[in-house]
Amino acid sequence: MNPFEYKRAGSVGEAIREGQPVGAKFLGGGTNLIDLMKYDVEEHDKLVDVTRLPLAKTTESEGGLMVGALVKNSDLAQDPRVLGRYGVVSKAILQGASPQLRNLATTGGNLLQRTRCYYFYDTALPCNKREPGSGCGAVGGFNRIHAILGQSDQCIATHPSDMAVAMRVLDAVVMVEGPKGKRSIPIADFHRLPGDTPQIDTNLQHGELITGVMLPSAAAHTKGTYVKVRDRQSYAFALVSVAAIVDATGKFRLALGGVAHKPWRAEKAEAYLAGKPMTKENFRAAAEAELADAKGYEHNAFKIELAKRTIVRALTEVS
Ligand SMILES: Cc1cc2nc3c(=O)[nH]c(=O)nc-3n(C[C@H](O)[C@H](O)[C@H](O)COP(=O)(O)OP(=O)(O)OC[C@H]3O[C@@H](n4cnc5c(N)ncnc54)[C@H](O)[C@@H]3O)c2cc1C
Ligand code: SF4
Repeated sequence: MNPFEYKRAGSVGEAIREGQPVGAKFLGGGTNLIDLMKYDVEEHDKLVDVTRLPLAKTTESEGGLMVGALVKNSDLAQDPRVLGRYGVVSKAILQGASPQLRNLATTGGNLLQRTRCYYFYDTALPCNKREPGSGCGAVGGFNRIHAILGQSDQCIATHPSDMAVAMRVLDAVVMVEGPKGKRSIPIADFHRLPGDTPQIDTNLQHGELITGVMLPSAAAHTKGTYVKVRDRQSYAFALVSVAAIVDATGKFRLALGGVAHKPWRAEKAEAYLAGKPMTKENFRAAAEAELADAKGYEHNAFKIELAKRTIVRALTEVS
């Protein structure tokens, strides 16, 4: 690990000022960032610890529930307002990581955690995300955990967050603040597909601090589920996951995890289901529509059928 300066910020303004230098990085719970630095995947000259900022509260707001960027994953999952109105978020968080990790992990840090692609973490192997232009070890290598939708020939990594998949199905909005002021980014536009710039995971600019995430009231629900399929029943990332809710208008909404470089909203499946009877046959047809363009590789082609079955299971649970 390279030597770095440590600075604890006392206010949002101070954090943004201290976070401006090119080598600076914000530090949340540290459960991903510190590993990346220990493995020499990332090098930063300065860590700006944001954990003492007053962003650890969840408050009612006009458009919904505003979750502070420093709300711990454990606290968010147990919040009665989340359990009552945004149950899919709670279910997704509780199927991720371990209780110890969830006690440290923050809402902002969770959205920005990086892929678990083995080649990304191994600095002896090529990886366009870690070292642009070096190649992608996974395309012709061991690619069991990799993407089947939205990938490019530069990168087939998946986004690992469970919480982000639940937030995608809600159309959550990420609130950020930087040297140029405040802005809000719909979660649909927050994470990116790899294209030919797989080194850029999100549309957050350097030096911008996530201050919160808005869970919109239009996505409040009583019927919501998160089905996560993984190699072990605990402490493992998703091979495939599906967040499903029935929103206030009665519409089925679906998002997939473990299949793409970003949380994947299943818009084709949603469109297929609109106005149709809720039958197993229609659920399967919706899943077929969503996965029609999926592409598998040597070791992950099984995910295509797995994703279809997981969609059917999630829809059955919420119908
Ligand atoms: C063994 C293990 C198993 C895991 N299993 C799962 C799992 O099954 N599902 C799952 O979803 N996750 C899993 N995780 C990942 C875990 O959820 C993330 O590491 C955690 O959510 C990251 O949050 P953090 O606050 O610790 O972020 P950090 O590690 O502190 O930061 C991560 C990134 O976010 C940036 N950052 C942090 N806060 C802010 C902010 N407010 N504004 C701007 N940038 C910010 C940092 O600069 C860094 O780039 C696992 C982790 C481990 C180690
Ligand atoms: S899939 Fe992406 S992260 Fe993995 S080796 Fe290829 S470029 Fe790197």
